[in-house]
Amino acid sequence: MPGTGSCFCGHVKYRYTGDVQAKALCHCLDCRKISGSTYSTNLIVPGEGFEVVQGTPKEISKTADDSKNAITSYFCPDCGSTLFRKGATFGDAVIVKAGTLDDHSSLESHKPELELYAGHRPSWVGKVGSSAQKKGMPDSEDHEVSTTDKIKAKLGA
Ligand SMILES: [Zn+2]
Ligand SMILES: [Zn+2]
Repeated sequence: MPGTGSCFCGHVKYRYTGDVQAKALCHCLDCRKISGSTYSTNLIVPGEGFEVVQGTPKEISKTADDSKNAITSYFCPDCGSTLFRKGATFGDAVIVKAGTLDDHSSLESHKPELELYAGHRPSWVGKVGSSAQKKGMPDSEDHEVSTTDKIKAKLGA
């Protein structure tokens, strides 16, 4: 299903025509800073068919938490909203920040199936249904880990 998105001020707009390949929450500390919130909600879409249709986003590259690969964030130079990210870990796919989608109701059909850096999830944020819990990036080993579990382990519960 194709989609369109835009930043907070509306100067930068993008669209994608390919099908969403993955839906993931990311609890990494970089996403916390970028979003100014607890975690990020992401859609992985094919690079082919993705394009910025208005404005020119600024970009900043940084190496992800425990990965060797840099990730580049693209954000509006006027309002600062991060619209999408790209990185070697994801090949030529684009990581769309789901909160920038223009069709607000489309999040209903984009329930996350994957949670990255699950160990950073605050204990008061619940796991999404039966989503897969990853220790790091999608290519990292599967690992059921949560802050709640760690706290429980400490308390011997
Ligand atoms: Zn903007
Ligand atoms: Zn992240």
